[in-house]
Amino acid sequence: MYKSLKELQIHCLNCTKCELCKTRKNVVLGVGNEESQIMFVGEGPGEKEDLTGEPFVGRAGKLLDKMLEYVDLSREKNIYIANIVKCRPPKNRDPFDTEQEACIDWLRNQILLIRPRLVVCLGRVAARRIIKNDFKITKEHGILYKKGNIFFMATFHPSALLRSPQNKPAAFEDFLKIKEKIENMTMNSKV
Ligand code: SF4
Repeated sequence: MYKSLKELQIHCLNCTKCELCKTRKNVVLGVGNEESQIMFVGEGPGEKEDLTGEPFVGRAGKLLDKMLEYVDLSREKNIYIANIVKCRPPKNRDPFDTEQEACIDWLRNQILLIRPRLVVCLGRVAARRIIKNDFKITKEHGILYKKGNIFFMATFHPSALLRSPQNKPAAFEDFLKIKEKIENMTMNSKV
């Protein structure tokens, strides 16, 4: 267990636990408010993320930012964004199970340090790794799950929404549910 995200970062930036370390330009650990009650988790960095070291930049990142803004969330203000794997899988393929297994402890430790109350999985890969291994994003997006003290939900990955814009209304509905959940959590914490 690390004492801080800073300490975790120092170790993670030098990680060589899987083959992805050989082709990465940057380790993409995460970004956002480290005291957030909400974490968003994608599957892994793409080309732009690998070059900049920041998750969800580029077209998919812009769409995510727009959807976050719709429910008064932003990476600058009140959420933290991370990925299942911290190094880019070549040609943006899905990360292999072995790579996810090797990397998942970094995310577990991020969650332990940030202590979010809601974790939103962006896309199938994150949902299958975090919620359940047969998760079906088209059928089960927007459903709240609870494990321990943390609520979990999955919605469409913004890259998938760029490819299939017909799913955008459903994704916006998920974001409204996220907003509603946050408001409930805030009310309950004031009681
Ligand atoms: S993907 Fe994760 S486990 Fe693999 S080298 Fe990068 S940080 Fe380490």
